[in-house]
Amino acid sequence: MHDVAPPYLPGLRALLSELDRLQAFPRVLKVVPNLDGRFPLHRSAELVDLLRAEGAAGSEVVLHGYTHRTSGPLADGWTVRLRAAAFAPHDAEFVSVGPAEALRRLQAGLEELNRCGLRAYGFCAPGWLGARWLPELLRASGFRYHVTMGWLHDLVGSRRVWTPWFGSVGTGGVHELLVHVGGAAGAWAGRTRWGVVKAFFHPQRPTWAPQLERLRRALRRRRPVTYAALLDG
Ligand SMILES: [Zn+2]
Repeated sequence: MHDVAPPYLPGLRALLSELDRLQAFPRVLKVVPNLDGRFPLHRSAELVDLLRAEGAAGSEVVLHGYTHRTSGPLADGWTVRLRAAAFAPHDAEFVSVGPAEALRRLQAGLEELNRCGLRAYGFCAPGWLGARWLPELLRASGFRYHVTMGWLHDLVGSRRVWTPWFGSVGTGGVHELLVHVGGAAGAWAGRTRWGVVKAFFHPQRPTWAPQLERLRRALRRRRPVTYAALLDG
């Protein structure tokens, strides 16, 4: 579940109840600790309560950026810049800051979670867009794993797990359509004996019905698992 932040609470609740209906539990909740720099998590007691209840029942919090927003010129390899410009021009936070500022944001994000009684051992950059130096910075900051679009990277060992995917991005329109088509391979893998498949959801707009159907079919022969549990084997 991406973009867990106060403004999206109604969508989050709707999605969680759909996931409950499918018995899709536990889940991974990718929390934005200060969306837009205007929505610090601690100010939403309702969301904090929800996250603590989810955590107590076995779900897992992942740090998902700090503000989630691009805050300067994009500076990394041309492929990352191209992906950011095409798909996430406003959400490329961790390719729009340098390593020192990124470290400051990681620490501020963890502090905000801590203030709410939450902990995160994993990180996923907004838009799955991270600069080349990000994995090393995460490792040095004590994160256990790093989630990119197609992979789960173990930062303690050197293992990485390929995760075919399907999901909703909550944008509607062409972008949503492209992601739906791109997810066909992951949805197919979900119905086979392939080891791990990732299902992701965004709460911004209710574009999730086709992806819930893909998840329902995948769950016929699979069980949901968090990233930490996956790495623990
Ligand atoms: Zn996001």
